Amino acid sequence: LKTAQQELTALFAEAHHAVAFTGAGLSTECGIPDFRSPGGLWSQNKPIPFQDFLAHRAARNEAWRRKFAMDTAFSGALPGRGHVALARLLEEGRLAGIITQNIDGLHQASGVPDAALVELHGNGTYATCLDCGRRYELAWVRERFEAAGGEAPDCPACGGAVKSATISFGQAMPEQEMARAAALSEDCDLFIVLGSSLVVYPAAGFPLIARRNGARLVILNREPTDFDPFAEFVARDDIGDVLAPFACPAL
Ligand code: NAD
Ligand code: ZN
Repeated sequence: LKTAQQELTALFAEAHHAVAFTGAGLSTECGIPDFRSPGGLWSQNKPIPFQDFLAHRAARNEAWRRKFAMDTAFSGALPGRGHVALARLLEEGRLAGIITQNIDGLHQASGVPDAALVELHGNGTYATCLDCGRRYELAWVRERFEAAGGEAPDCPACGGAVKSATISFGQAMPEQEMARAAALSEDCDLFIVLGSSLVVYPAAGFPLIARRNGARLVILNREPTDFDPFAEFVARDDIGDVLAPFACPAL
């Protein structure tokens, strides 16, 4: 464990432009299961593809039912040691930006400004109309959903489907975020993967883009990933344990 911390400290000291790439493993210590946790809410149901959400009212109702069940289960989740450490590293200028696959809003909750954060898979803390883009708060959706006995509301302004502001399987990736993530990956000299199995594409392509552009690649993940052979340093320790000291100004 000490080795991982020492290794990271040395890598940060040598880097001019370090980027963190985070996945569900960063938030497990906050009580939010990752994709692969046995019995976790994500593994109980097959994800609803975007086309089904668009095409069928029943799919929209089911998507919102699951969403509210998850929100109830994970409400009150607070940033973990990893989140706090990354926010601090950004503030100190030792980190240039964070690319995240997470949708839990915990990077923002730890004080990371939007300008330093790329949310590749959107954000599950609010909803938008897929047609006119209007934003709706989850409380607004939930009130109508429950009042209508489990029927998802349509956009009152245009009649479009209202969806959690996350990216579903089959849904186009957000262009601006993809471009910002590409720029960060191309320009960095240190790319640190934290808690991602690196199997979800196109997100998992960014570590390789960074590597190809000469960045040093570090992977902190409990389980092996396909990209471990390309990494200069791999640690299987708990992310919170490794990053905890970076939350304090001393290290
Ligand atoms: P993943 O579940 O595929 O992989 C997470 C990895 O983190 C696993 O390999 C696991 O071994 C590792 N891990 C878990 N806890 C750890 C810890 N404390 N220390 C070290 N390693 C740890 O997650 P992914 O690669 O991010 O892909 C999942 C997809 O599902 C993403 O697209 C994401 O949008 C979505 N998702 C998001 C959340 C969230 O927002 N918190 C949670 C689950 C899934
Ligand atoms: Zn609308």
